[in-house]
Amino acid sequence: MVAGGRLLRGAHGFAGEIGHVVVDHGGRTCACGRQGCWEQYASGTALRRLAREARERDAAWPDSGDDAVDVRRAAEDGDVSALRVIGEFSDWIALGVATLAHVVDPQVVVIGGGVAHRAELVRSAVERHLGEHLYASHVRNPPQVLLARFGEDAGAIGAAFLDREDMR
Ligand SMILES: [Zn+2]
Repeated sequence: MVAGGRLLRGAHGFAGEIGHVVVDHGGRTCACGRQGCWEQYASGTALRRLAREARERDAAWPDSGDDAVDVRRAAEDGDVSALRVIGEFSDWIALGVATLAHVVDPQVVVIGGGVAHRAELVRSAVERHLGEHLYASHVRNPPQVLLARFGEDAGAIGAAFLDREDMR
């Protein structure tokens, strides 16, 4: 999280651990040992799981594998099941973004990681769902939702800049 051009670190260096904000009390077990963390619903891994579950439910699922990229491709081709998966996935992202917006009201939210690669479909769906989750959505401007320019490498690039004086 960046505020006023500076990385927000918090009093103990743990600010911005947004993947571990609980969005589903008692939900899926996270690698952190807790349950219902946002990243269990809004990550490349989560998208693959949703796709796998859709494949198990729906015999007509396209034979495109259950990889996150393949799901997006099928959705871009108009496959109804894939579009449903992208819709559910984007709704989870929007829920977490709205939670963040309720705390810090950011100007921009950037979607990065494996999810961000060629993901205009996800980005636009998140924007659509955001209004359903935002408090006072009829009187406020929602944060702008963008895709990370450096995709999966964005986190590593950001970490490499952590020691720069102007980021402290
Ligand atoms: Zn967690």
